Amino acid sequence: MLFNLTRLTGWLLALFSLPAHALTIFACQPDWASLAKVHAPEAEVFSATTAFQDPHFIQARPSLINKMRQADLVICSGAELEVGWLPELQRQSRNAKVSPGGEGLFFTTDYVAVLDKHDHVDRSMGDVHAGGNPHVQFAVADMINISQALSDKLQQLDPKRAAQYLQAGEAFRQRWAAKMLIWKNRALSLKGKKVVGYHATYRYLFAWLGMTQVADLEPKPGVSPTTAHLTQLAKLDPSNIYAIVYASHQNSQAAKWLAERTLLPTIVLPQSVGGNEQSHDLIALIDNSINLLLASSR
Ligand SMILES: [Zn+2]
Repeated sequence: MLFNLTRLTGWLLALFSLPAHALTIFACQPDWASLAKVHAPEAEVFSATTAFQDPHFIQARPSLINKMRQADLVICSGAELEVGWLPELQRQSRNAKVSPGGEGLFFTTDYVAVLDKHDHVDRSMGDVHAGGNPHVQFAVADMINISQALSDKLQQLDPKRAAQYLQAGEAFRQRWAAKMLIWKNRALSLKGKKVVGYHATYRYLFAWLGMTQVADLEPKPGVSPTTAHLTQLAKLDPSNIYAIVYASHQNSQAAKWLAERTLLPTIVLPQSVGGNEQSHDLIALIDNSINLLLASSR
């Protein structure tokens, strides 16, 4: 009885020594919401967008402002992906913790070897991401680095749960490293394949798999496909192109138009976690994307 009482007291003490509320996390994309849930299972996690929205163009709605006001941690891609809406949310939510310079602001691109940085950008180039490609949910090789930094950040913000964050982060990185070997092996036949893409959404995945996007349905970055541009693309020699690849949030019309004229297969990949039924978390997103690329008829 005495033993049980001591145990109960110890247990209650442990329970009450944790802050009443776990962290409240605001993620700009479902990928980072998924990553946050894995790294901080007790946290309350919210994603500002879905895989069917264009992450470049989001309205700074009052509901998003409210969510940001409550956040202890904001996880976004950065590298200007959210430049059209995140600063507005930060300004209106008046939450110093997650404002520029705040300790609760975390950009995943800060932990990625960012591709395609531009020293010089002007309007004639279209909507180019000057800071490099921000679509890093597909930066397979960098995810371990992102995970490590996120674990560190969580421990800094909520030191009482440090042991939990440490353990959850370690477990994720072990799973990811094991998956990387499986993915590389499974996707060997994709190496050297050339594709027509739509925006540079899969730049990191293609680079990691040794694939090349040789043409883009967008005439310029961020500019919707035009008939004139598609007519040019229709002159491409389809014999050395593997497929036309676009994302779950993009209009399929341009890809279908080009597919009809070139007889190239089209592949629609999830843009983010939740982009299709299979892509329920970040590991499943990469798993499923590779499977879909492999399933193409060529
Ligand atoms: Zn982009």
